[in-house]
Amino acid sequence: MIKKIAIYGKGGIGKSTTVANLSATWASDDLKCLVIGCDPKADTTRTLYGQRIPTVVNTLKDNRNPERDDLVFKGFKDILCVESGGPEPGVGCAGRGVIVAMKRLEKLDIFEEDLDVVVYDVLGDVVCGGFSVPLRENYADEVLIVTSGEYMSLYAANNIVRGVKKLKGNLSGIICNCRNVENEEEIVNAFAEKIGTHVIGTIHRSNLIQDAELDAKTVVEKYPESEEAGEYSKLASNIMDNENISIPEPMDDEEFEEFFKSFI
Ligand code: ATP
Ligand code: MG
Repeated sequence: MIKKIAIYGKGGIGKSTTVANLSATWASDDLKCLVIGCDPKADTTRTLYGQRIPTVVNTLKDNRNPERDDLVFKGFKDILCVESGGPEPGVGCAGRGVIVAMKRLEKLDIFEEDLDVVVYDVLGDVVCGGFSVPLRENYADEVLIVTSGEYMSLYAANNIVRGVKKLKGNLSGIICNCRNVENEEEIVNAFAEKIGTHVIGTIHRSNLIQDAELDAKTVVEKYPESEEAGEYSKLASNIMDNENISIPEPMDDEEFEEFFKSFI
């Protein structure tokens, strides 16, 4: 069975980096991965392909009948890379771009191919239409949320939990992407427990990740023997072996404030 995962989290928290490094790990273990960037910024697959790829939305503007190879690009270890694309910031809804891209991929039978994992890098903002598409349309079966121990990141994570519950999505865990705040892992663990899930893996903050990114590579590709690649590897296998999947229970805002203050 294909594993279909959607990754959510506050803007800038490390979703795209996580998606790219996870798929690089799975592909290194000979799993066939399809990565779908659902953000109009279209930067999810840059570190897998070595440069930016054209987006589905832009390609369709010039060519109404694109072929598979116009939309799906082979990156590191043959990872299939797609960027939905979408409107410029402030113009229109990002959700439309994702829907257009998904329908087009379906028409080309991409999901009928021999795949092990499909990963969606989702626009984190709950008010945006792009948020709900992967879950509402049943493209993804499970959700992972990336957060640090920072207030705003956890606040956003709690809002995402609200959206996931509303859409009856399955949460399979929290990824702690550290920003080096005090008691970070303790806070994120407690948050996970509070909403009825668990921390499925922790990635420590590291310059090596940004060093690799500058080279348009994942740290898994550029530094495969590094501790950082080891952390992604552990996370990747935890996700594959995970059986703790459930509909999460968000905190209300007051509860969240109290929760966070108890750690200060
Ligand atoms: P957006 O919401 O804008 O799409 P995002 O959640 O996808 O952002 P990324 O683009 O993956 O976030 O990451 C933002 C920046 O943080 C990048 O420069 C990335 O290299 C860096 N970064 C992510 N995780 C780590 C980490 N564990 N250590 C160091 N740098 C990191
Ligand atoms: Mg991103």
